[in-house]
This record gives sequence, C-alpha cells and structure tokens, in this order.
Amino acid sequence: MISKEDIIKRFVSYVTVDTESDPTSDTTPSTAKQWDLANALVDELKAIGMEDVTIDKHAYIMATLPSNVDHDVPVIGFISHFDTTPDFTGANVKPQIIEDYDGKDIVLNAEQNIVLSPDYFEDLLLYKGQTLITTDGTTLLGADDKAGITEIVSAMEYLIANPQIKHGKIRVGFTPDEEIGRGAHKFDVAKFGADWAYTMDGSQIGELEYENFNAAGAVVKVKGKIVHPGYAKGKMVNSMYIATEFINSLPRLETPEHTEGYQGFFHLYSIKGEVDETVLEYIIRDHDKGHFEARKEVMQKLTDELNSQYEREVITIEIKDQYYNMKEKVEPVMHIVDIAEEAMKQLDIKPLIKAIRGGTDGSQLSYMGLPCPNIFAGGHNFHGRYEYVPVESMIKATEVICKIAELTALKNSK
Ligand SMILES: [Zn+2]
Repeated sequence: MISKEDIIKRFVSYVTVDTESDPTSDTTPSTAKQWDLANALVDELKAIGMEDVTIDKHAYIMATLPSNVDHDVPVIGFISHFDTTPDFTGANVKPQIIEDYDGKDIVLNAEQNIVLSPDYFEDLLLYKGQTLITTDGTTLLGADDKAGITEIVSAMEYLIANPQIKHGKIRVGFTPDEEIGRGAHKFDVAKFGADWAYTMDGSQIGELEYENFNAAGAVVKVKGKIVHPGYAKGKMVNSMYIATEFINSLPRLETPEHTEGYQGFFHLYSIKGEVDETVLEYIIRDHDKGHFEARKEVMQKLTDELNSQYEREVITIEIKDQYYNMKEKVEPVMHIVDIAEEAMKQLDIKPLIKAIRGGTDGSQLSYMGLPCPNIFAGGHNFHGRYEYVPVESMIKATEVICKIAELTALKNSK
C-alpha cells in the first residue's frame, strides 16, 4: 500500500520550495529558484534507486526505472512540471492539512476572512471524509504540478520496492517553465526515448485527456492620424473607432464567456489605444482544425475589408500559431489512451474523458514525436489561493501510474 503519510510528507517537501516561473525572462529555467527543487529532485530520484538520473543545463530532469521482465515492452514515460504559475505568489506556501473533511466551510485565513466554501466550490463535496491539503489563503498551493511529481516519484519508489509487479522500462521527466508555455520547448524527446508518455497534470480524479485546442495569437494594429481636434475636420482618423469596428465585426457570442465543450472562440484580451494607434491582442482557439483555420481567415478578411473601405492600409494583422490539438497525433495510437482508461477502471476510478479547453505540455510533445495524453493529478482551483488537493486522489494517481506500467507489460507479453 502507498502510505498517506509518505505522500503528504513528499508533497509538502515540494510545495514549500518556491519555484514560480517568469514569462519576462529569456533564460531556461526562467527563474534561478527553480534549481532549488530541481536539484533536490535529482538527489531524491537517485536515493530511491532510479537509474540514469540526469539534469541538463536547462534543468530538465530525466531518469529510468529499468524493465524487470524478459520480453520486449514499449518504453513509457511519465512527465510533470515543477514550476508554479506567475499568476499568484508561490513563496512561503504554508500547507494546511484537513483530516476527515466534514463538507463544511474551510477557514483558510481567519485574520483576512478567507474561506474555502463548498457553496462556491461545490467539487469539495466529492471529498467528504477525505484528507485535504489547502493553502493558508495567502499563496497558491502548487498542486499544479507538484502533485504530479509526488505521484510519479511515489509510484517509482513503490515499483522498486515491489518487484513482483512486472513492468517494462519506464522513463520519468520533470520540466521547468510549463506555466509560461515553455515546458516542452527544450525537452529532448530523442534522449527521453519513450514510445509514448503521460503528463500527470490534470485536475479532478478520473480526468484523462487527449484532445486540446488548436491555438493561435493575433496582434491587430490600427493606424490613425492625429490632428489638433479644433482643426480636425476631414483630417483626423481616430484609430480607436476603427478598432471598435474590427471588434464589433467578430461574433460577440464566440467568446470565452459564451462557449464551452467543443465550441471555439476569439478572445480579445488586451486593448491599448490612442488616436494615433490602437493595438488589439487576441487569442484564437478551436478543437476542430478546419474551424481553427476558418477563424484565422475571418480575421484576415476583416482586416482586408477595412483597409479597402478606408482606401489605405489602416490595419495590419499578425497571426501566429501557438500549438495544435494532440488528438491528431494520439488517435493513430489510441491504445495509449485505452491502457490509461483500463488502469483507472481496474482501480475503481470513473474515467472522465473530455477535451481540454486549453493546451498542455503534452500537446507540444505529441507534435515533437512523443504522443502524450494527460492524466489527473488530483488538485482543484489551480493558480490561486483556493487551490487544494485531496490526498486520496494523489494516492489513486500513484496507483494509476503503477497500473499503467503493469498493463503495458502484460499486453505485450506472450
Ligand atoms: Zn500544470
């Protein structure tokens, strides 16, 4: 059995190290403090008996658990990130442990009147009677994704201690800077050498994801003409009005606040405007590749139309693809999802298979040649003070890792 005390101890030892990443930095890792946990993880992987433990100059960690069977088994990998989001502070995390949760409000911070309540976060009621780890209300927790690291390390430790569980070669990878979209950028897929992998970076127990958005960013620049307002007749061009035309020409209901499931959107997330120039920043998201391309085309056409209407180039648009739906790369090897689903079922976990309304490191890795679905790590309310994780979900995720290893070896034996 995987011990609750060990899981808590390990998890707390990770979240109390500040590893916030920084999008304004050009280095990898983006913050030097990520080395603190990275170096400790290397020591820990060696101490539990992992082999080929390496850390490169960008703090990417890899390690091997060798096969303990004679027959050929595909090499599988498990991946997590050790940075936390810059959206909310991850310094001085003081985890609170709530045993036998009673389903009522949890006072995170009496002084500042910060309460984690099932009236607002109804998911809490799924975990009545379980042990929850929360914040003290002043920081995030970092279950995203130190829960994933806890589960992978604990699973490896468990498999090493229980050689009667048969498995093939397993690779482990821990990355910096996932939260600023760079976790996969310097990941050496060839060195990792796995046939496929799983990111342990989902939320609620049971989550299993292999579809995500296709994603692009667009920067729209509108050029105006500034003239003294008293003498502006027929001369002034106010870029903010043209920008407003652009904004209003896109479908108002195809925005994040009006969409769900497989519905895509245009998301205007920044306007900076003066008479002379207005800059609009958008992200474009759609699960369907065709719809994704069509959305980009709509923005381009709108730009062309406004330019012809004003009889000069008043608008320019720059659209850049960011990442793609991993479904395209995972569907041809669907057994990798099936094994994870089967593992959950054997452990009495109800698989929740759904499309991610976002991206994961796994989507980039899948396009780099490492098909990589995402599995729950157990936490909720990521990126803020209300983040929490049930210890029982972390134990289940640890068991899922062991079971996937076992099933992969079993399916390839004869
Ligand atoms: Zn994450």
